[in-house]
Amino acid sequence: MKIIETDWKWKSGLSPRPATRYIVLHHAAASVCTAAQIDSWHKGNGWSGIGYHYFVRKDGSVWRGRPEQAMGAHASGHNGDTIGICAEGNFMTETMPQRQREAITELISDILTRYPSLKIKGHKDMGATGCPGTNYPLAYFQNYDYKGGMTMTQYEELKTAIAELVKKNAAQDDIINKVGAELAARTEAINALGADVAALAVRADTVNDTEPDYRPTVQKLVDSGLLKGDESGNLRLSEDMLRMLTILDRAGVFA
Ligand SMILES: [Zn+2]
Repeated sequence: MKIIETDWKWKSGLSPRPATRYIVLHHAAASVCTAAQIDSWHKGNGWSGIGYHYFVRKDGSVWRGRPEQAMGAHASGHNGDTIGICAEGNFMTETMPQRQREAITELISDILTRYPSLKIKGHKDMGATGCPGTNYPLAYFQNYDYKGGMTMTQYEELKTAIAELVKKNAAQDDIINKVGAELAARTEAINALGADVAALAVRADTVNDTEPDYRPTVQKLVDSGLLKGDESGNLRLSEDMLRMLTILDRAGVFA
């Protein structure tokens, strides 16, 4: 990863750190400050120079303070077994910009490649202080999966891609539901038509059976002289007789 190097002028020699057990996270307790300012503040404390190993600005730039193997000056009682990372900002009142959070995540991942078993602590876990501030995303850095983890940018991109897919899927579901509803309506209409046709067929059968048209048969029988009316020309045929004659005619008896 990109780390900005500075040729710090140490007031006295730095010692190698005897052990490395923890990464300690700090805030600068200053909304805007530079690595050089911190170096001058710490020199003012009578220290050799900037006490942190890394300083991460809000713009995501990562600055080297003390060499990683050197003893730091950032966590009283624990300078002999910790690596210190300080974030620009006052996280008692501010919240951390995403670029800064990503940079710290990447920095911790990078340190863990050299010191794989380090635990991550906030300064307040090591002594009586409010550092790194109540709004500092300490739990985020402590719970982050550095081995299989993705950067915040990758995470946000994935989240957006998944949201897009869900939206697209919902739209397709909508279309499928509409087509399904239309199909169901059409099927219903076809079924209704089928029922109408069946009803018509039944009615046609009924008409054929119960209301046959007698006139052609009667006309044929009158024409051939087989049926004769009374003096006034009226045929005195019952309904049953008419039906019988019609059936016989259709059977070809009068052909
Ligand atoms: Zn601190």
